[in-house]
Amino acid sequence: DSAINDAFVEFDRVQKSYDGENLVVKDLNLSLPKGEFLTMLGPSGSGKTTCLMMLAGFETATHGEIRLDGREINNIPPHKRGIGMVFQNYALFPHMTIAENLSFPLEVRKFGKSEREAKIKRALDMVEMGSFGSRRPAQLSGGQQQRVALARALVFEPELVLMDEPLGALDKQLREKMQFEITHLAHTLGITTVYVTHDQTEALTMSDRVAVFDDGRIQQLAPPDKLYEEPENSFVAQFIGENN
Ligand code: ATP
Repeated sequence: DSAINDAFVEFDRVQKSYDGENLVVKDLNLSLPKGEFLTMLGPSGSGKTTCLMMLAGFETATHGEIRLDGREINNIPPHKRGIGMVFQNYALFPHMTIAENLSFPLEVRKFGKSEREAKIKRALDMVEMGSFGSRRPAQLSGGQQQRVALARALVFEPELVLMDEPLGALDKQLREKMQFEITHLAHTLGITTVYVTHDQTEALTMSDRVAVFDDGRIQQLAPPDKLYEEPENSFVAQFIGENN
C-alpha cells in the first residue's frame, strides 16, 4: 500500500536479543515518512537505544528487516548509511579544534578541502557557532559543545539524524532553547529525525509523532495531542501523565 511505499525508515517485525534468549525488542513495526520528527519515549531499559543502534548499524536485528529509503540495510556499514548522530555524551574529539571535529565526517566521506570548508562554515553558522572554529572543545560551555555536536551531525547533510538523549546533560533553560533549535533545524532542512528520550515533556513538545515504548514494544504511536487526550492503555496514560 502507498503508506508503506512512502516510508523513508521502516522497521518490519524487528526483534533483538543480545543473549540469544531474552528479547529486548519484541516485535517492532514502525514506518516514518521523509521529514518526520519521531520520538521514541519510554522508561529506562524499554529498548529505545537498541532500536537506534540497529538503525545506525552498530547492532544487528535478530529477526526482521530494517529499511532505509526502501533498501534493506543489514549489510550496509554505519558510515555508508548517510545517518548523522548525536548522543548524550556528545564526545567531540578533545584534541581537535571545532573545525577539525566537523571536518572529520567530511573526510570520511571523501569531500575535498574547499567543499569541506564551505560545509563547515555553513554548519557552524547554522548553530550560531561560526566564530568558534579554531577553539578546542574544552574551551566551550556544555551548551556550545552540544551545538557543535549538532553541527557535526548535520555537516554532511544527512537525510536522517538519530539523537539519543542529546540534551540530558544540559540545564533546564538551555535544554528548552536547544529543543526549539533542534526541531527548527530539522524542519527547515527537511531532515528525518529519530529522537530518543525518557522525558515526556520533551517528547510532547518536539515531535510530529511519539512512539511510547515499554518492555521492548511500542505501546502507542501517535501525535502528541492524541497521546495526551486518548492514551490507548493504562501504561501510556500513566507514563504520559507523569511530570505533566
Ligand atoms: P535507557 O533510557 O536507559 O537508555 P533504553 O530504553 O534505551 O533505556 P536499551 O538501552 O535499548 O533501553 O536497553 C534495552 C535492554 O537491553 C536493557 O535491558 C539493557 O540492559 C539491554 N542491553 C542494552 N544494550 C546491551 C548490550 N550491548 N548487551 C547486552 N544487553 C544490552
